[in-house]
Amino acid sequence: MKIAHVFVEHPIYHLDHTFTYACDGFDLQRGVRVEVPFGRTHIIGFVSEVKEISEEEKKSYGFEIKSIDSVIDEEPLINEELFTLADWMADTYVAPKISCIQCMLPAKLKPKSTHGTIKMEAFVQYVKDINNLTIKQKTALEDLKAVKLMPRAAFYQKYKTPGKKLIALGCAKIIEKEASAFVNEIQVQESEFTLSTQQIQALHEIRKSKHHEVFLLHGATGSGKTEVFLQLASDTIKQGKQVVFLVPEISLTPLMVNRVKRRFGNALAIYHSGLNAQEKYEQYQLVKHHKVQIVVGTRSAVFMPFDDLGLIIMDEEHDTSYKQDRMPRYHSRDIAIERGKYHDAKVVLASATPCLESYARALKKVYHLVEMPQRINESFPEVKLVEMRQAIKNGEDATLSNTMLDAIYERLQRKEQVILLLNRRGYTPILRCISCGHVIQCPHCDVAMSYHKQDKQLKCHTCGYQMPVPTHCPSCGSSTWRYLGMGTQKLEELVQVKFPQAKILRMDADTTGKKNAHEDILQAFANHEADILLGTQMIAKGLDFEDVTLVGIVNGDAMLARSDYRSAELTYDLLEQASGRSGRGDKRGEVIIQAYDIHHYAILAAANHQYQYFFQREMKYRHMANYPPYTYLVSMVFQHKQEAAVSQSVSYAMEYLMKKEGFKVLGPAGLHKIKDEERTRILLKGKDQRQLSRMVKDVYDRHIASKQKARLEIDLAPIILE
Ligand code: ADP
Ligand code: ZN
Ligand code: ZN
Repeated sequence: MKIAHVFVEHPIYHLDHTFTYACDGFDLQRGVRVEVPFGRTHIIGFVSEVKEISEEEKKSYGFEIKSIDSVIDEEPLINEELFTLADWMADTYVAPKISCIQCMLPAKLKPKSTHGTIKMEAFVQYVKDINNLTIKQKTALEDLKAVKLMPRAAFYQKYKTPGKKLIALGCAKIIEKEASAFVNEIQVQESEFTLSTQQIQALHEIRKSKHHEVFLLHGATGSGKTEVFLQLASDTIKQGKQVVFLVPEISLTPLMVNRVKRRFGNALAIYHSGLNAQEKYEQYQLVKHHKVQIVVGTRSAVFMPFDDLGLIIMDEEHDTSYKQDRMPRYHSRDIAIERGKYHDAKVVLASATPCLESYARALKKVYHLVEMPQRINESFPEVKLVEMRQAIKNGEDATLSNTMLDAIYERLQRKEQVILLLNRRGYTPILRCISCGHVIQCPHCDVAMSYHKQDKQLKCHTCGYQMPVPTHCPSCGSSTWRYLGMGTQKLEELVQVKFPQAKILRMDADTTGKKNAHEDILQAFANHEADILLGTQMIAKGLDFEDVTLVGIVNGDAMLARSDYRSAELTYDLLEQASGRSGRGDKRGEVIIQAYDIHHYAILAAANHQYQYFFQREMKYRHMANYPPYTYLVSMVFQHKQEAAVSQSVSYAMEYLMKKEGFKVLGPAGLHKIKDEERTRILLKGKDQRQLSRMVKDVYDRHIASKQKARLEIDLAPIILE
């Protein structure tokens, strides 16, 4: 008889092994989805293996092998490369294999989802030429013949009357196809620039090798890295291979997409979290069916179903958005490198502020280091530091110093543009009772609620819970609140009061909820519909506006107050990246950083654009404190609604860990409520990555085997320790 091993995902049981089903009479391949009976229900699973077994073997199962109900896919969703990758991920990140497969697929194709309807679209297809057509009909038919297929809407928009006639005459017909069926031809344009010596040099280095290699392109902001990417992509496309451009955030996709389109036409797929399930599915199919050679996207685009990948570009490789924050907690960089090896493709990691680990690897020659220290326009913005304590002592505004106000005023006079950045991490407006000091917290999380002025609501940034501002303090009954801290909304108001004529655009989590909001805001700013773009982290990265000559950072050292061992690195990255937005055109740029501790090395290094200086200092600190890249960290987070369940699981894990040696256990940290669940964390720190990973696997297996109630989430290389 023929049997199939099927992965299923079940919400209650933590299943990571396959179940066996009979599949005689079904045409089945590894990698397709099937519907199977499971307990009293029927669920969707994923076939990992199909094989023949003998009567003997069948008996050895000792239970009746049920048959699958039906087969969902004709073709496998996951090919051999991705199966191997899923194995590798499950092993490397200590995660259930099914979760690794899930994260590779768009929602419509995930094993557990039903095979939802796929949207079809109407197209007009060329059929034949006939005599006696009018001139207009002839033109329309010629046009259609050239491309063979055109979306009906587009065709009718161009040739309404002659178009309809052509269909009536049988020269063209309407067909239904998946919306992704139609794409434009790829066209490769030459670069519009004469490349700089530095760009030529970098290209030469990267082109030298014909095989897989990982490059770290360390190039200053505005050094022309993107132009290097496009040139490499052009090489790869001409060889008939696929290219993926990864960007860290959805706000950066429009920019990259525009530059890629200018160079290669419209034949590309775009993949990011802002797309709905149908759109994601369509983009996925474009790649799967070889309709496009180029993909631009965020983190998960690294899993697209490539089968002949030649180049992976990872822009802003230091960015923490590349790390997945759920199991499997993968990093796109690791995945990119694994896939690069498999396809014998080049991987280019690029950044003005490479992550410490990457730069250390490049110095050890694990990655091939390529440096581009000069800006295209050969001038770095001048950075001014403003010490806020002093400014406040002088009676200046506590949020915007006189230096900042003067600089903004100048830009407005000269009709140049300004970017104002408020580093929101650790700096949000909260409500505190004037009489007793009580801070309003989220009832579901141990987190202070943030005040949103527009709708006069308190919102929890962790779980999204909202409530109106209470009339009385729940602790003492007083009715006067103090609004502490500065959010983007409040900053916008303040700037508007100081500069009533200025047009301001705000970009933060509140203004970018709607579809295409990022694109619209950035486009409006590019069109000079506003003088000032104000926002959080998301405006610090990658943007390229030539008329921005001032970048102001309101609270440059807010992040240094965090206890995270990477807070200096995150601060430096943010400041250097943000300053990189100033003076990218012909006009010289300026940057003003307001901070309390202006002598901190992270701030000084950013002010002087000295990556090496920062790197040396930070490595020394990491060495002394025994932090990565000198050691490895593993985090284990236990969570459950009941405190007792968490404590029990933690004790059970600790009991095992205490018997082992060769590493340090930090924690468990005190319980902390998030989304109504109690959670705590244990951190392991050690020099032997293999040993750590083996131990964590043991802890995980014991946890599952002993049927612990708490959920255990493992992160093999945590980069943000909240
Ligand atoms: P990066 O990606 O390193 O920040 P970009 O590739 O965005 O830098 O280049 C910065 C600016 O310089 C862009 O506006 C780009 O169009 C322009 N640029 C890039 N290469 C050249 C070149 N060789 N000659 C002139 N301008 C260039
Ligand atoms: Zn909450
Ligand atoms: Zn009170």
